[in-house]
Amino acid sequence: MTGKVALVTGGSRGIGAGIARALAANGASIALTYTSGAAAAASVVSDIERAGGMAIAIQADAADAKAVQAAVEKTVSDLGRLDILVNNAGTAIPKPFIEATLEELDRVVAINIRGVFIATQAALRHMQDGGRIISIGSCVGERMMTPGLAAYAATKGAVKMFTQGLAREVGSRGITANNIQPGPIDTDLNPAVGDWAAPQIANTALKRYGHVDDIASLVAFVAGPHASYITGASLTVDGGTNA
Ligand code: NDP
Repeated sequence: MTGKVALVTGGSRGIGAGIARALAANGASIALTYTSGAAAAASVVSDIERAGGMAIAIQADAADAKAVQAAVEKTVSDLGRLDILVNNAGTAIPKPFIEATLEELDRVVAINIRGVFIATQAALRHMQDGGRIISIGSCVGERMMTPGLAAYAATKGAVKMFTQGLAREVGSRGITANNIQPGPIDTDLNPAVGDWAAPQIANTALKRYGHVDDIASLVAFVAGPHASYITGASLTVDGGTNA
């Protein structure tokens, strides 16, 4: 990936930070977005720079269309081009659907669906032929094992179908669109301990959470040259949750 540029939304912590580090380790220059965690974003940037790579952090809430579009523009102006977009920023409302407020429902749709649309559209205007659009969906976008995530699951199902439709539109430019579907991965959003974790562990075949690197290594493969014939795919990394 030397000479390539990747934009990772929500790249300051968790899965997105793992993806940013993995793509940088493969030679790509990285732009990552965040909302409030400037220190966390700066620490990912300095880790990448210490390892000899190039990275910038951009504050851009995925729910704010203008900020997302500006983040794409800044990536291209500061790093010179755009080859890889990773739509990683996402949020969940872990509670019974009936208790979710309208504001919570609007926010999960704005970040998990609308934010993906906006970032992808803005990125495609600059993306090199042969580029990569990789979205982080979820295994719950395909199969639901627990209560409390109905709206979130709906947004991730939307990411899956968006990916399939998009693959049909960008294939003539050699651009691939794929959806990576994590199962339970130990992050701030989904910590591997506590009452919320127990049923998720029970639902895996491997009886454990995964690590951010389990997702990042697949994203690095899909972003790379050996994955040029994979498109429109939903690739599940869930410890066997959906088996
Ligand atoms: P975390 O909450 O641990 O990290 C989220 C990252 O995204 C942080 O860098 C955060 O930075 C940033 N972020 C949050 N909201 C926004 C926003 N509105 N705009 C831009 N950046 C934002 O999440 P995970 O790493 O666990 O999840 C990453 C993705 O993986 C999500 O799409 C999630 O749905 C998906 N996923 C996660 C699973 C899991 O088990 N962890 C399972 C299946 C899917 P800041 O704090 O500065 O906002």
